[in-house]
Parts: sequence; C-alpha cells; structure tokens
Amino acid sequence: MNTIERLKQAAGPGGYSEDPQEIAPHLTEWRGKYTGHSPLLLKPATTAQVAALLAICHETGTAVVPQGGNTGLVGGQIPFHGEVLLSTKRLNKVRAVDSHAPALVVETGVTLAAVQKAAEEAGLFFPLRLASEGSCTIGGNISTNAGGTHVIRYGMTRALVLGLEVVLADGRILDLLRLLPKDNTGYDLKQAFIGAEGTLGIITAAALKLFPRPRSSAVGFAAVASPAAALELLAQMQARTGGLVSAFELIPRIALELVLAHIHGTRDPLGAPSPWYVVVEATAGEGVDLAALFETGLMSADDAVVAASEAQGQALWSLREHISEAQKREGASIKHDIAVPVAKVPDFLAAAVPEVLKLAPGARPVSFGHLGDGNLHFNFQSPRPGDDPAFLALWEEMQLIVHDVVHEFGGSISAEHGVGVMKRDALPRYKSHAELDAMRALKTAFDPKNILNPGKLVPPLLRL
Ligand SMILES: Cc1cc2nc3c(=O)[nH]c(=O)nc-3n(C[C@H](O)[C@H](O)[C@H](O)COP(=O)(O)OP(=O)(O)OC[C@H]3O[C@@H](n4cnc5c(N)ncnc54)[C@H](O)[C@@H]3O)c2cc1C
Repeated sequence: MNTIERLKQAAGPGGYSEDPQEIAPHLTEWRGKYTGHSPLLLKPATTAQVAALLAICHETGTAVVPQGGNTGLVGGQIPFHGEVLLSTKRLNKVRAVDSHAPALVVETGVTLAAVQKAAEEAGLFFPLRLASEGSCTIGGNISTNAGGTHVIRYGMTRALVLGLEVVLADGRILDLLRLLPKDNTGYDLKQAFIGAEGTLGIITAAALKLFPRPRSSAVGFAAVASPAAALELLAQMQARTGGLVSAFELIPRIALELVLAHIHGTRDPLGAPSPWYVVVEATAGEGVDLAALFETGLMSADDAVVAASEAQGQALWSLREHISEAQKREGASIKHDIAVPVAKVPDFLAAAVPEVLKLAPGARPVSFGHLGDGNLHFNFQSPRPGDDPAFLALWEEMQLIVHDVVHEFGGSISAEHGVGVMKRDALPRYKSHAELDAMRALKTAFDPKNILNPGKLVPPLLRL
C-alpha cells in the first residue's frame, strides 16, 4: 500500500479529503499572498489519530504541514511543496474547566472565540484578543505565540499556557498537560513548542490559564500630538489607575481616515483632527471607581472621549480593529510587524519613515498598533489607491531597510506574527551563529527526518 493509502486508512472515514474543492480554501492564506498545493487533507478528530498519522509520516519520510484556522500572516500554514496538510479543526472539544486553578483544558482546533466563550460560561476570563479570533484556533495561537491587544496587561500567549499535549514527529505523545503554576522538574519542554510554528510537534491540547472576569471597564479615544506624547499619556494612565490599563493602541490620522472612508457606519469621535490618537482600555474589579481614575489619567491628552456605554466602547474599538481591512480596501500596502523597546518607538519612527520614503517617494506611512508593547504594524500604503504592482515589487527591498533600522534600535523583525517563510531567510542577518545553531539543534532533536513543516522558520545552514 502506498503512503497516501496508508494515511487514508489510518485517518478513517470522514478523517481525510482528496477533493480539490474541499482542499482549496486551505491552500491560500488570508491576503492571497501565498498559495500552495497538497494531494491530501488529513482531518484527525483525536490525539490518537494524530499520533497514528505522524507515525506513518515519520516511517515513510512524508512531509506534513499542520494547519489551524489558516489566518497566519507569514505563510507557515501553507504546503508549498505538495506536503500532506493536517487540519486540527476536528480536534474541537473543551475537555475540562478547573475553576480553582483557574484553567481550561481544550483541544487545539477550538477557535479563540470559542475559548473566550467557554471561559465566560465558567464565570472567568481568557484575555487573548485578536481581530482574527472568530477563525484562528488556539493551537495556531500557541504555535505562533500570538500577541494582540491585551499583551500590555496579560502577556503573550506563552504567558497564558500552563500545559500542553503534543504529538512528536515520530508519533509518540508527549503529555505535558499539567495544571501546575510551579513545576521545576527540569527543562520546561512545553516552551519549545510555543511559537515553534508546527516545526517541532503537533499540539493537540492545551491547559490555558484563566483570570477573574473584570467587573468594570472603561474605553477612551484620545488625541495626542505625537508618539512621544502617547507614551507620556500611557505612563499617566498606568500611574493613575495603578496598572489597570489592559490595552493601549496607537493610531495615526491617516489610519482613522482610511477607516472612515472604507468602513460603513464609522465616525470620527472627536471634533478637530489630530496627527495621532490612542484607543485606551482599563478594567477593574468591584468597588474601584474606574471611571474617575480613567478620566484623571486622560487629562494630559489634547482631547478625549470616554465611552458612555458598551456599544460606544465597541464603536471606539472598531476604529482600531478595522484598520487592516480599511488598508486592504484602499489598495496595495507593504506591511511590517516589528517591535522596538517601548521608549524608543518615537525615535524609531523618526529614523525609519524617511529611510522608506527614499525608496518609495509618496508612500503613505500607516504605523499603528500595540504601543504599550513597543510593537507597531509599520505599514506603508501605496501613494495612490487601488492595485499597484510596481509598489508591491518593492516589498523585499523595503523590508530590508525597515529591518535594518529595527535591528539598530535593538528590536525584533517579527513581534507577533512569526517567521514562517516570509522572514526565514532574514533571520541569519540579525541572529548570531550561536543562536541559529541552537535553533537547528532543537529542530534536529525533535524532528530528525525534517518532516514537520519543512522549510519554515529555521534557516538552512549555508556552507561556503
Ligand atoms: C485580520 C487578522 C488579524 C490578526 N491579528 C493578529 C494580532 O493582533 N496578533 C497576532 O499575533 N496575530 C494576528 N493575526 C495572525 C493570526 O491570526 C495568528 O498568527 C494566529 O495565531 C494563527 O492561528 P491559526 O489557527 O489561524 O493558525 P494557522 O494560520 O493555521 O497556522 C499558523 C502556524 O501555526 C502552525 N500550527 C497551527 N496549528 C498548530 C498545531 N495545533 N500544532 C502545531 N502547529 C500548528 C501552522 O503550521 C503555522 O505554522 C491576525 C490575522 C488576521 C487575518
């Protein structure tokens, strides 16, 4: 029996597809930037099935690409070379809720929105927030160590994982599904799989840390003169609220204008235009006069509005959440997901924007995002609306310019989206030989036959 037949047999009825129409949506990513091909879509529904499938792949040297919600932005989930595709979507059970830990044990094909809902139904709170939360899976979030808007208060996904269940490349099941905040019994192996983009194992279940549900929240939209003024406002807000800020998102005027132009039902909440804005949110428990603290904190802004209802809060948030969609509707744009130390954001912007404009005169900078984490979506819109292939052809060159400036500022060329194929070959320029060798050693130890997501994340060793 050939390998494909063996995999089909192990997957069982309903556990695979060879139908090109069913496979097609799994082959192209959200922006249409990457497309792949695959002869077989595996759809295991249990950890035991994943283990049986990987044992066959390992024995036969068959490459496999794990995929969750296919919302990744660096091509990590796409089978570029005809690999078998393994979708985790049927690993979709909530296994347990532990209200004392408090923690939730879920299979990794559960969407982030469903994880949030399960936490809420247990009277608790799971703080990871991404605009893709209706489609992305918790397995994808863990594999990319996703960030989002609440990192400033709760940390990256890594900080939210207590334990993992992982199927190794050879099909063995690594049970690290512990509910222990304290466990110093050697290497913390689960950390290796968080942010590994499916190159070291397939994560089948996770124990997630939950939090008490906030009892009150405040959302504001503030005008500031500059990114430096925005940082000053953040310091004020944190000081006044005693560290209750749960989100602090920077928005330039052009991003607001794009949202107002392209997203139906949005409106400018402030009277006069300002070069920069922030959306700020804080949450608290009972008995805290959050509204008073919040408004005092906002006093140093040039102008500000505080939501008077949940609906108003959502309307303010939607101005931030629709920026990517508005950029897409406006036309061509080149994007960078970078981080620099928080205090250096203003100087980074002052240094990097002119460098890019030398390459692409007239390009429109749309730098927005998670200012409190030093993480900006440092994007450039084409000088004119609509398609612009000549502008997009500058992607690689612009990326190099931006990443070099990021590196000078002690930053990261991928703050939250990962490496995938998009940034793999950029890593050797910015990481030491020692760091790259350690990454390759980890990959070889966990996946000696290089069958798990080959060609992603880990740069090959180039021998001169
Ligand atoms: C509109 C939009 C907004 C976004 N906003 C953010 C944001 O604010 N912050 C942010 O960090 N990201 C953001 N993203 C990117 C994306 O949503 C995240 O990277 C997300 O974590 C990917 O989850 P997924 O289930 O779609 O994974 P996929 O795209 O399917 O896969 C991503 C990577 O994880 C691997 N993988 C998936 N599941 C598993 C598993 N169970 N075991 C092992 N490997 C696995 C894949 O092989 C691939 O390398 C956004 C994307 C979109 C489209």
